[in-house]
Amino acid sequence: MVCELCGKDITFCKKVVIEGVPLEVCTECAKFGIEAEKRRTEEPGPKPVVKQRLERREKRFTPRDVYAEAGTEELVDDYASRVRNARSRKGITQKELAMKLNEKQTIISKVESGSMRPDEKLIRKLQKELGIILKERSAGEVTAQSTATTSGPLTLADLIKAKKD
Ligand SMILES: [Zn+2]
Repeated sequence: MVCELCGKDITFCKKVVIEGVPLEVCTECAKFGIEAEKRRTEEPGPKPVVKQRLERREKRFTPRDVYAEAGTEELVDDYASRVRNARSRKGITQKELAMKLNEKQTIISKVESGSMRPDEKLIRKLQKELGIILKERSAGEVTAQSTATTSGPLTLADLIKAKKD
C-alpha cells in the first residue's frame, strides 16, 4: 500500500490524524500526526512540511479532469438569430454580409433562417465580421466531480453543463 501523505510504498501503515484528516501513513509521516487512538485535545500547529505534503496528496487524489480537457466547443442553438440580429445591428443586408465574407447570399439566408448550420470556416468568418460568439463550450454529465477541488478558476461543474435533451 501507499502512504497517504508522502506517497511512499509501505508495508506497514499507521493510522493517524493530521490537520484533522484521518490518514494511513508511513512511520515517518506518522510523526506529523496524532495517533488516531491517542488523539489529544491540543493539536500542534501546522508544520509547513505537513501542509506541503497534504497539498501534494490532494493533487494525487484528485481525479484527472478528463471532461474539462475533452470539453468541445459547439455551435450555439440560436446561431440563426445571433447572426440575423448582429447583421441588422450593423445595418447591412444579407447580400452585403455575404460579399464581405466571400459567400453566397443564399448561404447567409439559410444560416439566418436556421436551415443550414454554418461550417467551421463560416462560423469563424461570421464571428469575426459580426463580432459575435457562435460557439460555446458544451459538455456532458458531471460524473467526476471532485470534492477535493475547492479552488481554481473553473470547476467541472462550471465547464460541464449538460445540454442533453
Ligand atoms: Zn509517508
